[in-house]
Parts: sequence; C-alpha cells; structure tokens
Amino acid sequence: EEVFLALCRPGFESDLAAELTDRCAELGASGYPQTTDDSGYVLWNNLQGDPDALLETGLIFGRSFYPLTAAFEDLPEQDRIGALWPELERQGPFAELFLEHADTNASRELARFLRGFRKALEPRLRKAGLLRDRADRRLHLFFEDSRNGRVGVSPLAVPLPEGGLTRLRLAPEAPSRSALKLEEAMLRFLGRGKPPGLHTAVDLGAAPGGWSWQLARLGIKVTGVDHGRLDPRLLDEYPVRHVSGDAFTWRPERPVDLVVCDVVDKPARTLALMQKWLEQGWARTALFNLKLPMARRYRESRALLERLGDGLERRQVGAMIQAAHLYHDREEITVWVDTRAH
Ligand code: SAM
Repeated sequence: EEVFLALCRPGFESDLAAELTDRCAELGASGYPQTTDDSGYVLWNNLQGDPDALLETGLIFGRSFYPLTAAFEDLPEQDRIGALWPELERQGPFAELFLEHADTNASRELARFLRGFRKALEPRLRKAGLLRDRADRRLHLFFEDSRNGRVGVSPLAVPLPEGGLTRLRLAPEAPSRSALKLEEAMLRFLGRGKPPGLHTAVDLGAAPGGWSWQLARLGIKVTGVDHGRLDPRLLDEYPVRHVSGDAFTWRPERPVDLVVCDVVDKPARTLALMQKWLEQGWARTALFNLKLPMARRYRESRALLERLGDGLERRQVGAMIQAAHLYHDREEITVWVDTRAH
C-alpha cells in the first residue's frame, strides 16, 4: 500500500476526496481517501494500480499531490534532524527542500517554526551532499505540528509550489486585488512570463481593471467590457480600451486570442457564454471563473466542465480544458480552455 498526500483549502476535503476517488478510478487505480474536516489535506491510500499520472495533470481541488515515503512521530525537540536523518539518507539526494504544512488558521505558528527549522536543516543537508543542484527529486517534509508529520518525495520535473501555494505580491499600481487571481491562474496554466501566441484579449466584466492590467502589462492588447468604469490610469498607461456594454451580448469585431471573464453569475450561464465565444471562433482560448454550487462541489463542477467539452466537440472544436481551485479562489474555480492545439 502506498500513501499519497494532497493539500487543499480547508473545508474542501470531501471535494478533494471525491475527486481523488474519481480520477484514480479512471487511471485504473483503487484505494480510499482519508479525510479530517478542515484539516487542509487528504491522504490517498492506494491499494492497486498507479495514480502517478495525477502528479503531472494536477487536480482541481488538490494544490499538490505526491507520494509519501514515511511518517514521523514525536520527534525529540532537541534533535529532530537526527531522528529524521536515516530516512533522508535513504531517499536523498534532493534538489529542493519543501517544508510544508496545511493552510489552516493554526498554521502561522508552525510556519514560524519551519523558518527556523529550515535554517538548521538546509546547511546540514548540503554538507552531507543530500541537497544538491544535480538531483532530480524534491523532498517534502509535511508537518502536522512541530513533532509529527510525513516525508514525501516528488520529481523535480513536476512544477509544484511549496505548501501548494504560490505567494504573490500585489503591485501598488494594480487596479484591484483580483489581479492576483489572474496572475496565479496564468502561472498555474501557462507558466511564467508572456504566454506565446496571446496578443489580443477581451476582458468581460473588467471593472475596475485588475485582470485587464495583468494582461496589459504582459503586452497583450485588451478590450475591457463593463458597464462600470475602469481605472483611468489603466486606460492612459496601458494598451487597454474600455467598452461600456453587456458581457452576455457584446461581441468583438474581430477574433481575439483570449477571452477572460470574471462576471459573477450562475456557473451554467458563464459556461454557456464561454462556449459561445469558443464555438463562434471569437476567441481561441478562454480563462474564467466558475462559481461553485453549494453542495457536491466536485461532482457538479466536473459535470459542468464535461458539458462544455461535449458541447465544443459537437461543434468540432477540439479543446484542452483544465480547472483549479486556486489559492485566490474561494467559492469558485478557475478554468482554462485552449482550442489552439486542435
Ligand atoms: N476582474 C475584475 C478586476 O480584476 O478588477 C473584477 C471583476 S468584478 C468581480 C465583476 C464585474 O462584472 C463588475 O465590475 C460588474 O460590473 C461586471 N458585470 C456584472 N455583470 C455584467 C454584465 N452583464 N456585463 C458586463 N459586466 C458585468
């Protein structure tokens, strides 16, 4: 039996458990999830088959997913490193050290402890040759408290942020905090820097302009559609134009590379709108938020995404659809659809 750890936003353990059960079954793996309400993580006990493909594809509700190699219990306060050392030697060398904890209210103190622990552990790992540039694995030490937790290992080739979270700082000139959400979404789905092939975009429900700003500062030309006003500085200093119009009826004169949508509406309505843009060829890619239903959040959102995929397929639009419950998402998920490779 192999155990995997997946981190999530506290309160979403049952959604993540449902997703793991579903996705593992699709991969021909069987096992069972173990959850504690509001813990911020789920353990997957794998009995048969191989769910490793999930490391690559990622999960909607899982912020990270990796196999565990050991558990540690009651580490002695005077010599935690000594107690962990045999397992570290067994699994090393590593290219990266992740000291992780769940994203719960109680985690602030643990985070402080881990900063100190890193200062002690990192030099010792380097000196012993267990932490070095040319390794291909990442070490995860997941702490439930300062003495108990799990050891995990993931391939360096799979990009994962420490603790499942990408910490982003809001630039003072950003017109709204929402800018962070789009930044996180683009990092997750498109990687760092200006995404190739995206030169023009429409931002539906753009005001006050955080998303438009995020796109424009990458050099993407943006048309922001909203009855509300956009930040005047955005219009002066960036390649952004404002159209006062309705997100659900406005249509572009010419196709754009990307449509983004942050209008808060019923998920089925947002989805139908995005489907229309992609089917009509008004945009080749789409990035948008979907409000989550109150219950069965995984199953319902999965069903919605499948409906989108089926709808596009019927119109012979091949698409790659990805979704994630981002750190900056609360009762919504963020979806990325790319029809270019098809
Ligand atoms: N993404 C924006 C940002 O980063 O600053 C924030 C968008 S805010 C969450 C939602 C916006 O959608 C509001 O500005 C609202 O005016 C707009 N909105 C709602 N319904 C709309 C509609 N039918 N047509 C156009 N805009 C709409």
